[in-house]
Amino acid sequence: MTRPTPIAFGGNPLDRASDRRTDAAWLAGQRAAGLCLPFWQNRPLLAGEAAAFLPWRPDWDSHLSVFLGLENGRALFAVDMPGDAEPRLGAAAFQEMRSAATVLPARDCAIAGHAKALIDWHHRHGFCANCGAATTAEDGGTRRHCARCGADHFPRVDPVVIMLPIFKGKDGGQDHCLVGRNARFAGGLHSAFAGFIEPGETMEAAVARELQEEVGITVGTVTYRASQPWPFPSSLMLGCYAQALARDFSVDGTEIAEARWMSKAEARARLAGEIGDGIQMPAPVAIAHHLIKDWAEG
Ligand SMILES: [Zn+2]
Repeated sequence: MTRPTPIAFGGNPLDRASDRRTDAAWLAGQRAAGLCLPFWQNRPLLAGEAAAFLPWRPDWDSHLSVFLGLENGRALFAVDMPGDAEPRLGAAAFQEMRSAATVLPARDCAIAGHAKALIDWHHRHGFCANCGAATTAEDGGTRRHCARCGADHFPRVDPVVIMLPIFKGKDGGQDHCLVGRNARFAGGLHSAFAGFIEPGETMEAAVARELQEEVGITVGTVTYRASQPWPFPSSLMLGCYAQALARDFSVDGTEIAEARWMSKAEARARLAGEIGDGIQMPAPVAIAHHLIKDWAEG
């Protein structure tokens, strides 16, 4: 197969300068000379179809800010705007991250997604998981520290397997992939299958377990394809193909409402919007789209 297509939220170009961000004086100097992407209620500021990076303003000093990294020597930050009323910052407007991801250039999408995941983590981790005391943001927002018990807390990334089962046609028959409709989603979206990796589990074991649970199929070889940071709130999607050992399946009815096998020709036609029967394929912003597309065109 060809090289994986660049996927939304991936390809972050920043140098995270992890050796320097522990220096508060260096960070303060970088912030004064750098650029900052404002967020409000986990929404990035957009000017048209671009992320709206602005020079630092002194009235932001009391807000939560995070250091994102260096780009061509210039520091980029994100700042979290407080309050219930949407702040007015010129002609730019705050936009929900999922819809922003469909219009932003790849570089802006990757940086905004990085910032969103980090700010969102701070919102939900203000107190020490060890002793319950309030914690403070350190190292440009890449760590929270508890002064009471001394514990350090780091931003979490939750690994999720997302997999497309493939049944290899025998005796000249065609290959097919299995897509399913999630029971929580209205409409006709059929996609790859997904689930969180549990403690003590390999990626391959999680793929096999989830497919057994959701559609009752047994898989052989699991092949890693590509990954995607997915900042809702902090997942890392690990895209895989899974060799299905039989065509029979049975949906669990709770996670997955229905499933169907698709040939490569059908998948290509559906991705091109050529079949108007209400069954939809995942959008290009999702790694599931690329798993299906790369297989169908491979
Ligand atoms: Zn503590």
